[in-house]
Amino acid sequence: MIKYKLLCKNCELKFDSWFASSNEYERLKKRNLLTCHKCNSVDVKKTIMAPQLINSKSKTDDKINLEKYNKVKKTIIGYQKFIKENFKYVGDNFAYEARSIHYNNSKKKSKGIYGKASSNDLKELKEEGIDAQLIPWIGEDKN
Ligand SMILES: [Zn+2]
Repeated sequence: MIKYKLLCKNCELKFDSWFASSNEYERLKKRNLLTCHKCNSVDVKKTIMAPQLINSKSKTDDKINLEKYNKVKKTIIGYQKFIKENFKYVGDNFAYEARSIHYNNSKKKSKGIYGKASSNDLKELKEEGIDAQLIPWIGEDKN
């Protein structure tokens, strides 16, 4: 079974009608057996099934979200720039480096560090009295 939206060109009534197949629709149409439910006109045609329209409201929301995201992204990138210029990148060794700075006084005057740490690492560091901040980080473009 296939459902078509039909439109009467005479009275502009739109109505749904079921057919066994698209061939059946063509056959009925050729024999003028398709008639308008309201005015009985045979001038009835199949309308194109419109794809579901994108809700214009959600489209606007997406745009706002994108603008918000870009704003936040800009701020984060600003932080990242500052951190890169003022801190030493230690990658995955963050927890280790943070500890060595904390426990080794000679390193106290060295640059701050930044790197990757798990939330577990951060929790442990905090318990040891080591101050580490978690900041959102946007991955750099590969290009
Ligand atoms: Zn009609």
